[in-house]
Amino acid sequence: MIFSFFILVVMAGRTNSFHPQRFFVFLFFVLLILFSSHCAFRPSGNLNHYDSYFPHDSKTNPIPKGKVRATFLGTSSILLDDGETQILTDGFFSRPSLWKTAFSKIESDPKTVLSVIERAKINRLGAIFVCHSHYDHVMDAPLVAKLTKAKLFGSSSTLNVGTGAGLPTDQMQKFVTGKPIAIGKFTVTVLESKHTPPFRIFGKTNATDPNHPNIETPLVQPVKAFDYIEGGTFDFFIQHGKNKIFIKSSTNFVEGALDKLQADILFLGIAQLSLQPVLFQDEFYKQNVQTLKPKLMIPIHWDNFFKPLSEPLEPNLQLGDDFDANMKSILKRTEKEKIEVKLLQGFETIDLF
Ligand SMILES: [Zn+2]
Repeated sequence: MIFSFFILVVMAGRTNSFHPQRFFVFLFFVLLILFSSHCAFRPSGNLNHYDSYFPHDSKTNPIPKGKVRATFLGTSSILLDDGETQILTDGFFSRPSLWKTAFSKIESDPKTVLSVIERAKINRLGAIFVCHSHYDHVMDAPLVAKLTKAKLFGSSSTLNVGTGAGLPTDQMQKFVTGKPIAIGKFTVTVLESKHTPPFRIFGKTNATDPNHPNIETPLVQPVKAFDYIEGGTFDFFIQHGKNKIFIKSSTNFVEGALDKLQADILFLGIAQLSLQPVLFQDEFYKQNVQTLKPKLMIPIHWDNFFKPLSEPLEPNLQLGDDFDANMKSILKRTEKEKIEVKLLQGFETIDLF
């Protein structure tokens, strides 16, 4: 966009004399570029249109026995708490601005991370499970582990982010897919998944370089956002007593991978869903929602993570997503099957089961 603006300025500069027609064409394109850039940085949906999907609740009462309280902390950071033990996915709280992320190196912000830990009352955290090693999932996980003494679970890439942050080896454990891990009364099984199909913005792509699919050496912050390599993507199947929760952060699926599973609650990443072909959207729904048959589905990874968690969450920017169309894609299918859908604001809680 900036590049096209530059070309127009150069083209205009080449004219030796004033041509009203050329000037108006030039002005038209400048206005068009300014207008489209203005739109690109706007939220891709209005949450007021989804008001009935929000419980508008932040519970502070003791967690009833047998229930699990979930607190949404933006992107795919979810805190689960049964009153005795807490577990957390990702724990990405620093959320540097778009400007900073695009043009400088980024790192965990201890003050912000600590304020989220305090506000969300993360005070008996047993484990952190990182779904993949892009910065909007893994960046703060080692710091959260350090501040809470929780164990960090992840891929070898995630563990390299932990080592780079100085987290001791005995506070980290590499994923063994398919093998259940007990954390208090929670049992977590990590499953191999797939990242949202790659996209391209301003000529840059987030696709994994097949020659460098992992973070191979300890990653010491600050680094550029693109230094956080995916390192594989994982889902979490969480059992608590007879109840089952499934957390999928990325908008994709491994065909047949969930066929033998069922879940009561599904936290489902919907980022960029509607940007995919309809056939993909159908299969995504079938492989995840229709297979797991949840009673309740909670969309995640829908918020603009360039904005701080201390402010109300807004949908992803139009620059790379379409929240309204993503919700439409989901709701037209869940309504047909009478599956309840709820959205959660930042720090909003819901008692599951
Ligand atoms: Zn990612």
